[in-house]
Amino acid sequence: MLVDSHCHLDRIDLSEHNDSLEQALSFAEKNGVNRFLCIATGKDNFEFVHDIAIKHAAVSCTVGVHPLSKSISTEGLLEFLVEKGASEHVVGIGETGLDGFYAKETLAQQMDSFVVHHEASIETGLPLIIHTRDARQQTLDLICSKPRENAGVLHCFTEDWDMAKQAIDVGYFVSISGIVTFRQADNVREMAKKIPLDRLLVETDSPYLAPVPFRGKPCQPAYTKQTAEFLAELRGESFEQLAKQTTENFYTLFSKAQR
Ligand SMILES: [Zn+2]
Ligand SMILES: [Zn+2]
Repeated sequence: MLVDSHCHLDRIDLSEHNDSLEQALSFAEKNGVNRFLCIATGKDNFEFVHDIAIKHAAVSCTVGVHPLSKSISTEGLLEFLVEKGASEHVVGIGETGLDGFYAKETLAQQMDSFVVHHEASIETGLPLIIHTRDARQQTLDLICSKPRENAGVLHCFTEDWDMAKQAIDVGYFVSISGIVTFRQADNVREMAKKIPLDRLLVETDSPYLAPVPFRGKPCQPAYTKQTAEFLAELRGESFEQLAKQTTENFYTLFSKAQR
């Protein structure tokens, strides 16, 4: 069994193989992927994402405002995160974080929002889902200010091992997406080999970043399998071992998620 630890089920393209979300999830299950974490990206899509989790026992969700969201603001944010975080279906806070690649000009606002999410994570005891790109030191400064067990995850991680290690040392997990299969991603492969198996998660980040051999097509949760197979081979582990341990890791980190 595998867990897709980060997917945007409210956005997946249903034209490729599936006519409905139900079919996409059952196609995933046929591929051995039977647990899904659906990630909220703003106040405007939370209810939708939450409804998906209510309707599907295999789906949990999060609450958060994406760093690239147009409605990024800290007004009422802490209250919103804490209140929605109390739902039995909400198992994490995010995605939040910093994106200096696509939006360097809003990094200050992104940081304000990230700080509030970090606070909400501590207050609720729910792990933080972090998006980090080209904002290495700022990300580390915040997360290293509060080391704690099962603090959260650096999702779709593409930075180097040194950054991953510093995050792991303060209680974070590292999640690898289909990018690891891309031809030019040697740096990601180098880093992914070094992550301790007990801190590793896998994800699709659907509908983005489909792994080889589906690269360029809409991504869907079933493709967690291709990324996990690739990773197992890269790391010299058996697929079963990697699947089993990343699933364990998911339930360790997202301890509110029901098995
Ligand atoms: Zn992200
Ligand atoms: Zn995402």
